[in-house]
Amino acid sequence: MTQVLQSYSQGRWQSSQGDTSSLLDASTGEEVARIPKKGPDVAAMLQFARKIGGPELRKLTFVQRAAILKDLGKYLFSHLDEFVDISLRTGATRRDTAVDVDGGIGTVAVYASKAARELPEKTILYDGDIEPLGKGGTFSGRHIYSSKLGVAVQINAFNFPVWGMLEKFAPAFLAGMPSVVKPASQTAYLTEAVVRRIIDSNLLPEGTISLLCAGPAGLIENLTSQDTVSFTGSASTAQALRSHDVVTGRSVAFNAEADSINCSILGTDIITEDDEFEIFVNQLVTEMVIKAGQKCTAIRRAFVPVSIIDDVAEAVSARLSEIVVGNPSDPTVQMGPLASLGQRDEVRKNLQKLLAVSQVVFGDPDKVKPLGADGDRGAFVSPLLLRADDVFVPEVHSVEVFGPVCTLLPYQTFGEVIDAASLGDGSLVGSIVTTDTALAKVLISGLAPWHGRLLVVDSSSAGESTGHGIVMPQMLHGGPGRAGGGEELGGLRAMKHYMQRTAVQGSPSLLQSL
Ligand code: NAP
Repeated sequence: MTQVLQSYSQGRWQSSQGDTSSLLDASTGEEVARIPKKGPDVAAMLQFARKIGGPELRKLTFVQRAAILKDLGKYLFSHLDEFVDISLRTGATRRDTAVDVDGGIGTVAVYASKAARELPEKTILYDGDIEPLGKGGTFSGRHIYSSKLGVAVQINAFNFPVWGMLEKFAPAFLAGMPSVVKPASQTAYLTEAVVRRIIDSNLLPEGTISLLCAGPAGLIENLTSQDTVSFTGSASTAQALRSHDVVTGRSVAFNAEADSINCSILGTDIITEDDEFEIFVNQLVTEMVIKAGQKCTAIRRAFVPVSIIDDVAEAVSARLSEIVVGNPSDPTVQMGPLASLGQRDEVRKNLQKLLAVSQVVFGDPDKVKPLGADGDRGAFVSPLLLRADDVFVPEVHSVEVFGPVCTLLPYQTFGEVIDAASLGDGSLVGSIVTTDTALAKVLISGLAPWHGRLLVVDSSSAGESTGHGIVMPQMLHGGPGRAGGGEELGGLRAMKHYMQRTAVQGSPSLLQSL
């Protein structure tokens, strides 16, 4: 009998009664754990966090909170090996785990160190200077940020069971809000393992983290106006939740990180002999293969000058032909399976829409022979490079295939590529590979309104570049339109989502003393 996941609520681990669903190893199809359909009393979970966790946390200054996060990061790193073993079951290679687990813990460490350096030994933040409001200098105003008094609910996607939790938890904790974590069911066993270690560490004030390992019933229904929701997942779930009567009726702050048809553009200045040609090809292959393309930031559309598209297709295909697909417990494997058979069905279904308007350049849409695994029991797919010769064909700009799939698109002019890229209707990230500063500036100004993040790479920066798909805690993550219209991270900016801005007016001496 495999383990049934528990929730952490009201200061203790709790089991749920009733039906459970099976969670399977992505490579072997063996059962890893079961998850209850219904959780413990969710209203009580939220209330405990609000009434016990919040006040305990807000007794501490920002600097004291930062010190706890620093110790937590170190503690979690000391348990990395056990998380790596569990992460394998989700289909992750060691490199994939580095993005999720090491990246999540690293994000906690970055927040701890930024907060220790940049925040005051206080519990409120100023926003701007004191503004004189009267001619005599006796009446002024100042904006402050104070912690919201509710709970920071986070609802996460299956592809980042650790990073998704920690990148939201760290800024909420610093801002003075307790978190209630709802992981996606498919990979919740990894989130549960990390939360067990967080609780075992005894580092956090009671009630500052709770975990709902079950269906979501009651989570949205019991929100109050002082709570926040940070959602990551599909655009359709985001839309359903943000338009929920409780969210709209109580003006609950709602941040969404949804799907995104990200692009990468090779500049018209690049020829096959340039180092930048290689940089573009390598980046494309990395983004297709890492986490088997199950990254919200992965490159889905690769815009290439028409004169060079055959060379790019050939070079990318050559690199993809060397990729070993299989069970990630074999260290020679470079790309693992998708997270579940359900995800494979989803990928195959959406792929049909792209195949109707493109040709396959590399890969077999129907089968792959995985190393050390059974191709029917595990959720394996081949990396797939497609090519559509009409750069404006709508499906390529609107269908997200959440797997190792990318479409090459030829373009002629920078005006054309800006128009085509914007058909994605808002993306998390776009990248440009060029040595031409004038071209980069034109593309940045054309693409910025459609993107949360832009990366420009040439051979001078490639060595240190963190890459197209890697989200750095110092930089904004989010995007307009289809990408959800939200913002996360961006250094200490993220704290502001968990705080209320208030304009305080009064005498300059009072304002100075706040
Ligand atoms: P999903 O099906 O929308 O689920 C996301 C989360 O919402 C899960 O935790 C899910 O729980 C929960 N959920 C579903 N219905 C709910 C309800 N009525 N009330 C409260 N919670 C509810 O998305 P997914 O399949 O996990 O993730 C894949 C998608 O996420 C992709 O489209 C990808 O692009 C996107 N994504 C975006 C980002 C980003 O940062 N922008 C990052 C990663 C992934 P259950 O699992 O229990 O159903």
